[in-house]
Amino acid sequence: MQEDKPRTGLRRAMHSVRFTVWIYFAIFIVSIVILMWITFIATLESNYRKRRNEDIDTVSEYIVSQISAGSLTGKRLYDLAYSYDMCLILQDRYGLTLYSYDVSPEHCLIHGASAAELAEYRRLADENGIYRKENLGTDLITDNMLYVRSIKQGSTIGYLMINTSMEPLESTVGMIRAQLMQITIAMLILGFGISIFLSQLISTPIQRITLSARKLGQGDHNVVFNGKGYNETEQLAQTLNFASEEITKIDTMRRDLMANISHDLRTPLTMVKAYAEMIRDLSGDDPVKRDEHLGIIIEESDRLAALVNDILDLTKLENGAEGLSLEEFDFSERIRSIMSRYTILAERDGYHFYVSVPEHTIIKADPIKFDQVIYNLINNAVNYSGEGKEIYVTAVKQEQGTEIAITDTGPGISKELLPLIFDRYYRAEKSKREVIGTGLGLSIVKQILIMHGYEFGVRSEEGTGSTFWFRVKEG
Ligand code: ADP
Repeated sequence: MQEDKPRTGLRRAMHSVRFTVWIYFAIFIVSIVILMWITFIATLESNYRKRRNEDIDTVSEYIVSQISAGSLTGKRLYDLAYSYDMCLILQDRYGLTLYSYDVSPEHCLIHGASAAELAEYRRLADENGIYRKENLGTDLITDNMLYVRSIKQGSTIGYLMINTSMEPLESTVGMIRAQLMQITIAMLILGFGISIFLSQLISTPIQRITLSARKLGQGDHNVVFNGKGYNETEQLAQTLNFASEEITKIDTMRRDLMANISHDLRTPLTMVKAYAEMIRDLSGDDPVKRDEHLGIIIEESDRLAALVNDILDLTKLENGAEGLSLEEFDFSERIRSIMSRYTILAERDGYHFYVSVPEHTIIKADPIKFDQVIYNLINNAVNYSGEGKEIYVTAVKQEQGTEIAITDTGPGISKELLPLIFDRYYRAEKSKREVIGTGLGLSIVKQILIMHGYEFGVRSEEGTGSTFWFRVKEG
């Protein structure tokens, strides 16, 4: 695997959440500002043109209505021209100018026009009723709008010519531009400020969590993750707190196991040594005593071997070093043959074994590991069967498969402990010598059942006993 190249200070800063949030926010603000300017520039002129056209229509309608009413005066026309900032010419039907007002600092288009041009305008108005022309100049200052209308009362009685430049727009644009500039600057300052604040807000809880994680990594199990700030970091902190608790639990278990194993290894070893010395020094010549002492040595060696085997088995299973060698076999036969080995316990110690398993039930599984599951569960039932000394082994066909269950009449397991007992190294009672076992039996069972894909579980009630079950698939 290739290692990431270490990042330099600047590159690391550029990859931080803080910087990323900040830069995206900054891009967002700048885009909005740019968009604002583009919209302003693109729409202002067309909006202005629309307004001017509406003004021209209003003025034209007013004048025509005044003519119809016979109340049009030169003064009124003059006022209109000035208040609307328009040049006006009113001609009679022969093209003779009756009124003419030029409000432009330079000459208006219609006032600068030749007689021929004016005649052409009249002709165009005659053709269409109203003749309009825009974009007559190259920029806002020289741009002009022309409007010529033939006034009719039955036939044409005269012509109205209106001409207006786009000049006032120039000053308006300048004013709005200055205002927009102020808004832009304010937005940039505010936006950058907010983005810095926001990036801080987002990165702070993450940094806090990172710091705590580093402490946890250094072995401080008391660290509490604090993700206060927003939901996601709170969830992350909760998850990490859970993980940290689990790590602590496993750590404690591992320590317990080491203590258990060391204790369990030391005790038989001390016994083996003590009895060996006893045989050498005292009982070597006394065959009865010697045999008794040798018996103890053999028993203790078996205990040692069992412990070491369990540890090895579990390690192998957990590492996946050992696969399954699947075979088809009749499990009822297998269970019966296992049970026959317990007759000695029944005869010697008064245990009662009840077996109820249907004949000829074929399954495909690893037979050796299947045996190990049954042995471990029955051994536990024997070890924890209490005064009742009754153990039931049953197999019941169900829809999803056959449920094999081992039930004892022992003290049961409390609700709090139930979820823990399949954990590695877990033992309800701290290592007591009279209880045979390593705390690994159920972990081995669990591992094997998981490998087979079998469902499994435990039902237990304090005072009544426990049932360990798993469901095999036939076929
Ligand atoms: P051990 O070697 O200690 O039996 P196991 O992994 O087999 O280890 O079992 C873990 C713990 O679960 C036991 O220490 C015991 O407290 C509990 N346990 C297992 N089987 C039973 C049972 N049949 N009845 C009551 N408690 C049980």
